[in-house]
Amino acid sequence: MIDRPTVDRILDAANIVDVISEYVTLRKAGTSYKGLCPFHDDRTPSFSVSPAKGVYKCFSCGEAGNVVNFIMKHDQMTYPEALKVLAKKYGIEEVHERELTNEEKQQENERESMFLVNEWAAKYFHNLLINNIDGKTIGLQYFRSRGFRDDIIEKFQLGFCLTGMQE
Ligand code: ZN
Repeated sequence: MIDRPTVDRILDAANIVDVISEYVTLRKAGTSYKGLCPFHDDRTPSFSVSPAKGVYKCFSCGEAGNVVNFIMKHDQMTYPEALKVLAKKYGIEEVHERELTNEEKQQENERESMFLVNEWAAKYFHNLLINNIDGKTIGLQYFRSRGFRDDIIEKFQLGFCLTGMQE
């Protein structure tokens, strides 16, 4: 875990044009820089970097983000790994990687298991809604009558609970 002040120092220090120039040949074009996009097979320079905004964007494939996102995407790294690359480049020594306390670890585990249970339950009830005869005739009809479109029902994994299951 890298602490917040260190993250801020890294983000302040990192110059997006410098960093991306290590991977992509950039040419100045007005207030921004242009180059060939490293994320798709680019023939015209559709990749643009704005030093003022600290962001990059490809006008062809839509890839966009800040300097950390670029490294994450380009080198398939996690957020902390990408931050470390930048810290190293800019000589920012104090990358505190604090060990989690036991209490924090436990909270982390609980959050993780709650998430898994929720995910399981959402799938379970959504499956009932879509495949169970009562789910289809009662639940799905109800959602549709309330104006929920099927893609919305799918997107939010709306579900149905059979009678007798509530207890
Ligand atoms: Zn692209």
